[in-house]
Amino acid sequence: MSENRLSQPVTSLTGVGAKVAERLQKLGISQIQDLLFHLPLRYQDRTRLIPLGAVRAQQEGLIEGIIKLSQVTFGRRRSLLCHIEDGTGSLVLRFFHFSKTQQQQLQKGSRIRCFGEIRTGPSSLEMVHPEYQLISDDAIVAVDAELTPIYPTTEGLHQISFRKLINQALVCLADSATLPELLTPEARLHPVANTSLVEALYFVHRPPPDVDLLLLSERRHPAQRRLAYEELLAQHVTMRQVRLQTQQHVAPVCQTDGQHRAQLLAQLPYPLTAAQNRVINDIVSDMRQPIPMQRLVQGDVGSGKTVVSAMAVVEAVSAGYQAVMMAPTELLAEQHFQTFKTWLTALEIEVVWCAGKQTAAERKQVLAALSDGTARVAVGTHALFQDEVVFNNLGLVVIDEQHRFGVHQRLALRDKGRQLDSFPHQLVMTATPIPRTLAMTAYADLNVSIIDQLPPGRSPVTTVVLPDTRREEVIERVHVACQQKRQIYWVCTLIEESEHLQCQAAEDAATELQQTLPDLRVALVHGRMKSTQKELVMQAFKAGDIDLLVATTVIEVGVDVPNASLMIIENAERLGLAQLHQLRGRVGRGTVQSHCVLMYHAPLSDNGQARLRCLRDSNDGFVIAQRDLELRGPGEVLGTRQTGLPQFRVADLMNDQDLIELMPTACDAFLKTSPHHSKALVNRWFGHKIDFGHV
Ligand code: ADP
Ligand code: MG
Repeated sequence: MSENRLSQPVTSLTGVGAKVAERLQKLGISQIQDLLFHLPLRYQDRTRLIPLGAVRAQQEGLIEGIIKLSQVTFGRRRSLLCHIEDGTGSLVLRFFHFSKTQQQQLQKGSRIRCFGEIRTGPSSLEMVHPEYQLISDDAIVAVDAELTPIYPTTEGLHQISFRKLINQALVCLADSATLPELLTPEARLHPVANTSLVEALYFVHRPPPDVDLLLLSERRHPAQRRLAYEELLAQHVTMRQVRLQTQQHVAPVCQTDGQHRAQLLAQLPYPLTAAQNRVINDIVSDMRQPIPMQRLVQGDVGSGKTVVSAMAVVEAVSAGYQAVMMAPTELLAEQHFQTFKTWLTALEIEVVWCAGKQTAAERKQVLAALSDGTARVAVGTHALFQDEVVFNNLGLVVIDEQHRFGVHQRLALRDKGRQLDSFPHQLVMTATPIPRTLAMTAYADLNVSIIDQLPPGRSPVTTVVLPDTRREEVIERVHVACQQKRQIYWVCTLIEESEHLQCQAAEDAATELQQTLPDLRVALVHGRMKSTQKELVMQAFKAGDIDLLVATTVIEVGVDVPNASLMIIENAERLGLAQLHQLRGRVGRGTVQSHCVLMYHAPLSDNGQARLRCLRDSNDGFVIAQRDLELRGPGEVLGTRQTGLPQFRVADLMNDQDLIELMPTACDAFLKTSPHHSKALVNRWFGHKIDFGHV
């Protein structure tokens, strides 16, 4: 066997022609070794028969019985039902699609063996469309000797073919023994890391039948954790490389006497909190360095991030550079624009507005002011980063509320602000309290500062959860609140994809509420309104000229109207925890006691109940985020697709939090003791999937 058999192309295996090779390529598999690191998603247990008396709903398994009754029923859907028994219990097999031949085969008296998921049916436990095999009376058919791994695959590549390929790869592994252990002893900071790599790989691909299946299915088996350790390390090394790369770039040194910041501070009607001051110090000292700042500021809703970013902007400007502030929605950008204009005009700093919906003439003027340098600060949406925008000497980019930003997007933005060899400082702000371990993984290329304190005098929002059958009561409550001179948000939610329907729902609600409560000043704001219109409504609401603002989730982020103290959210069950927390953060910004009513449409799923309960019981963004992670999984929490957060093969951001904690140190040790192996490590786990472009 040749020494580097494992690095030979997969086409050297039996059964891999051009077509299969192409499909494997889609999965990032080109060498034999890549197959070894293509790990099972889960396992099926066909090694034992479960007695029918012992099956449970949601369980997947192998069962066998005699068909006692076989009949076609015509309920909502025509189906073939076979009642089977094995002496310990009974179960129904249900087929919606079946041929005449099948119907004949599945006759009373036949012995049948099935594999599938058990579900609760209308009258008994059922298996819907199981894989099945008829067994002649006296035959003895063996069960499998091993668990069946299920691999992530792609169209046209069947599990069975996959298993055969993996088998060949495992044979190569046994023969060649050329798969190097890359974890140096110094980089093994947890006992799980001491298992041999080769053993762990064998184990996860071909677990023995006596394995603890629960442990395995929860990815908590030591063999899986050994691999997870290495995978997390590989990810960390990658992020570290991105970071080192960034640090090799030059950034404008922003060294000032801090006088402008002091002037801004003097304008504020409040002192900064200790947390705000600490974070501002982090930022200011980063900006004094000749390398680009890469800092994430996390702070719960209402913790006062805007003024922190304004301090950074002022710092950049007084050092002689331009600064931009980008927000994800026009509504929020507009609000920042107003705030910044008020603050910065007093310091004689010119601020311009830059967004998609601008007249050509306005835009031309803004572009000219940015490129000749008369405009020192620009506030806007992603329109700030279109090609035609040219800066004169950009020193700082602030990105607000961008938790849905992965490393790729951050790098792209960084490159936009590039001037010759110099990159601007970058500050990313998010209220989405990402659980720490998740942040360590997704943002390992950033430094993180946390504003872990709310301004004083806030009383926590009281939250109640009500079914929408009590809508009338809620409307009455709105009425009373208004008479007490409080301002109210009424939020209409719909499934996110349909902005149109959401706006429609808000329009209807506004009409209805105005009719029911004729003495109230009701207004509407939604994503399909012109930005000038939205702006007028928001200003009127802020000025207290509107009592009840009916809105879609456009007000989710950033909107700041301290006098609003009641929020009603319709169909709250449709939103994720983090989103609800964000929305709720629009109230409780002043000193009066605020309330939030989460209305839901019954029936609520268990998960839905758990989510609303969590929100009712906690106002702490970090607690909520952790719970969200448990209820929905990391992909949902960060919006994996948008974040560029790598999809792990075996690591689990929930289970492996203890390992993630060790990664910064493990990464240091690894890079110190075997820097020459870092490429191999990253390739092994992320291969061709990770393309950092400039790295
Ligand atoms: P975030 O963006 O973090 O959600 P904002 O920057 O919008 O929060 O601030 C929320 C509210 O708190 C604003 O009305 C702001 O004026 C106010 N605020 C900010 N910092 C302080 C402070 N140190 N003391 C009192 N109020 C503050
Ligand atoms: Mg904000």
